[in-house]
Amino acid sequence: LGGSGSINGCFFVRGRPGDFTRWAELGNRGWAYEDVLPYFRAIERFDGDADPTVRGQAGPFHVETLRSPHPLARRFVEAARQCGIPSAADYNGSDASGAAIAQTSIREGFRETSFRAFLRPSLARRNLRLLTGRRATRVVIEHGEACGVEVAAASGTRMIRARREVILCAGAIGSPHILLLSGVGPAAELQKVGVQVATNLPGVGANLQEHVGLWIVHALKPGTRTLNMDYGWLGILRHGVRFVARRDGPAASPSAHALAFASSDPSLTDPDLQIHFMPLGYRITANGIEIPPTPAMMAVPNVNRPLSRGRLRLASSNSADAPLIEPSLLQDSEDVRRLIAGCRLARRIFGAPAFVDFADRESFPGRDCETDGDWESAIRAHAGPVYHIAGTCKMGLDPFSVVDPALRVRGIAKLRVIDSSIMPVITSGNTNATALMIGAKGVDLVLESSRLP
Ligand SMILES: Cc1cc2nc3c(=O)[nH]c(=O)nc-3n(C[C@H](O)[C@H](O)[C@H](O)COP(=O)(O)OP(=O)(O)OC[C@H]3O[C@@H](n4cnc5c(N)ncnc54)[C@H](O)[C@@H]3O)c2cc1C
Repeated sequence: LGGSGSINGCFFVRGRPGDFTRWAELGNRGWAYEDVLPYFRAIERFDGDADPTVRGQAGPFHVETLRSPHPLARRFVEAARQCGIPSAADYNGSDASGAAIAQTSIREGFRETSFRAFLRPSLARRNLRLLTGRRATRVVIEHGEACGVEVAAASGTRMIRARREVILCAGAIGSPHILLLSGVGPAAELQKVGVQVATNLPGVGANLQEHVGLWIVHALKPGTRTLNMDYGWLGILRHGVRFVARRDGPAASPSAHALAFASSDPSLTDPDLQIHFMPLGYRITANGIEIPPTPAMMAVPNVNRPLSRGRLRLASSNSADAPLIEPSLLQDSEDVRRLIAGCRLARRIFGAPAFVDFADRESFPGRDCETDGDWESAIRAHAGPVYHIAGTCKMGLDPFSVVDPALRVRGIAKLRVIDSSIMPVITSGNTNATALMIGAKGVDLVLESSRLP
């Protein structure tokens, strides 16, 4: 319950105002920054000093600035400033650029989720029934109209009928998967796997977007304390006691303690790079994550608003088979160029005066990585997703759009998608806050059209 927000990194980032201007420019009326801002405000309860016309202080979803950032995180913000990235007063405010200690979806030391903030307080309502342990296998469509959902459970498959509408919110992988299984998608591809076509919608599963990043690891001088030394039982005990006593420390913190939003090119008005700073260094290997017991720090630059587009399609008509996902993360050379610029920037930040007393040497990818060609090889071999998939049921007016600006699926009545799959263009930063905003605005769209109180 709570979806990816129940397992995510807890970074709370709205994206830039320009992200939503772009959505509106694509024909999505009602989704410009000034339209979505009231929803962002209504959702959140932000505990920091901020402009109350932009930030919410009375909503159900708690957002707080990391309570106990590692001392190196403040060094990172200072080092970024020394490299020309200003310190951000509030990167979720009207100017979403610069470097700052991370804002998090954490309430009193515990993860804040959509389940905890919105669903759990409503569970007693008589018009809500929550069923768990079920998988939606398809939307049942009769005469061009969604009339229910088929669900599979250990006890068998059954259909749940809808009196008004069906709303899919299974995320950027689950929602297009269910639509394709229901015969809503590219007709030729559906026929190939034996799914009967309900409507030909070529955009279902296309337009897949994700932020691609590379992990830059910097070894620190002996004697510097980072979280690398805390992965033994002693560290776990120490931080566990601290968590119980004070609800802060590493056990109440995400992996990155500071974030920066910067540009690969000074002529850009909207920063196209994000950097996560972690007071910890690890390597991602074929066998998983390796955390050395020696001090290290890490920066993960990733590309905002990437131009590469992946896609998702059916492996078979069996709903139990996972869909095939082609992320195509580095398909567009511009994304590679931007990521190289981000990696070089991260290296410059680690070499800035603020780190001089601590920094030893870059351990990954290492100083041998110098030319554009070296960087591109390192990126193609080691870059990865930062888990922000979006856009696979995009909202819009063009033939590849899947839902209209009221989030109704084209060509099928009484069916909507309300989740991160509807983003026409992925936002400039971690996507959970935007998924929550889409949910809140989606509620109003449903209420408007059904005239419910
Ligand atoms: C590891 C990880 C780390 C992340 N870190 C961050 C972060 O720090 N900050 C941030 O802002 N964003 C982060 N994200 C992204 C963010 O959490 C997502 O963008 C956001 O939660 C998407 O919300 P959603 O409602 O669209 O989909 P989801 O939250 O994915 O919800 C979809 C739900 O539908 C369910 N579902 C899917 N298919 C079916 C089916 N067939 N039948 C029944 N149920 C189904 C799923 O189980 C899930 O509960 C992270 C994501 C991951 C995975």
